Amino acid sequence: MDLLEKKMLKIIDEHREEIIEFGRDIWKHAELGYKEFRTAGKFKDAMASNAETVEGLAITGVKSYLKPRKEGDINVCLMGELDALPITNHRDTNPETGAAHCCGHNSQITGLVGAKFALEDPEVQEALGGNVVFFAVPAEEFVEIEFKNQLIEDGKISYGGGKCELIKIGALDDIDVTVGHHTDPGCDARISNNVTNGFVNKTVLFKGKASHAAGAPEYGVDALAARDVAVTALNAQRETFRDQDAVRVHGFVSRGGEAMNVIADTVTMEYSVRANNIPAYQNASEKFDRSMRAGAVALGTGCEIVTLPGYLPTIPLENVDVMAEAIQDVMSCYDYKNVDLERHTPATTGSTDYGDLSSLIPLFQFKTGGYVGELHNVNMDPVDEELAYVVTAKIFALMAYKLLKNNAEEARKTKASFTPLFTRESYCELMDSLRKKEVIEPNPVKPL
Ligand SMILES: [Zn+2]
Ligand SMILES: [Zn+2]
Repeated sequence: MDLLEKKMLKIIDEHREEIIEFGRDIWKHAELGYKEFRTAGKFKDAMASNAETVEGLAITGVKSYLKPRKEGDINVCLMGELDALPITNHRDTNPETGAAHCCGHNSQITGLVGAKFALEDPEVQEALGGNVVFFAVPAEEFVEIEFKNQLIEDGKISYGGGKCELIKIGALDDIDVTVGHHTDPGCDARISNNVTNGFVNKTVLFKGKASHAAGAPEYGVDALAARDVAVTALNAQRETFRDQDAVRVHGFVSRGGEAMNVIADTVTMEYSVRANNIPAYQNASEKFDRSMRAGAVALGTGCEIVTLPGYLPTIPLENVDVMAEAIQDVMSCYDYKNVDLERHTPATTGSTDYGDLSSLIPLFQFKTGGYVGELHNVNMDPVDEELAYVVTAKIFALMAYKLLKNNAEEARKTKASFTPLFTRESYCELMDSLRKKEVIEPNPVKPL
């Protein structure tokens, strides 16, 4: 660590109470995607002394530049997610929103706010060969599909994921390198640099005809039976998914009929079709659609299959030595034992819209602990606020500094060795091509 880095860590320590207080407040006031107005407001207030702040990006996103913008500047973005999960039975669920921070995104936002204390120090600012952009981004969790579909219909957004939307509106055009974070209750601190699955989202409607299930079943058209045939057909395809593609097809029945003695006339389902590469989930998506058709054809129901683009697979970086150095520097000041500096972490089969970002912009990611329980689970709780908030802030701050010192040497190197998979235009083309609606007309056999 150089002298300035030591100074940065000391500054963050001096603001420890303030940072933890901010983290607690966000934890207690969880909000759902594209509705994070309070959280965005708090973040914006914390950024007030920055040179320039833009709000309302993709509805609730807030982008704040540490220094005045300069043509040709290298911009390193420290990114945090604003949203939480619809978990109503956590003791800290926000009663107003029904949301709880069981994915720990409160640590991300707090990490950014804490990092700013160090990065705004005049001596530190002077040493940065570029600008730092603090970006609070909306809607990472792919939940409340109907609400998001309504926003799309109303022309307020185009895609379900906040980062996807920010790419589309050009809000990430001037970002050269991004640093992201996620909570991991299973570690103290580690690098996160691995493939994640991409996915498309499916909503399926089977439309049959109600009738007395015992007295007159021959007059009904059973939408639930169509769903049974469809899912059996889908399960028959699973053997054809290649192991190396890590295909995951999973979902639930969101409406499954009205009563035991009434033939179900309306059945709806939501599914995700995931894989670690785009051709594989497109292939699985076709098999999914075919299976749904099979159910409708067999029973003679109507059927609607709506496909929405989800997220892309995450592309890991070749070289993340600078991330390892930042984690090591910060953790060397503590006694934490569970620190993993493995550069290439094992693939995971979940999805994140960081995948979309990583297809266009180099992305460093790290994880910190400080929680008990499991992500997306009612048992998640912050138990070590130093680790959850203060350590996160320190790693964010050192990453920005290390990338931007010496005339942004590291940031420039990272950018030069990165080949984007898409431009903004070709990304939007792909996303739009994944959007589909297929309608099958009902074709029941006439009852005798
Ligand atoms: Zn999550
Ligand atoms: Zn998350």
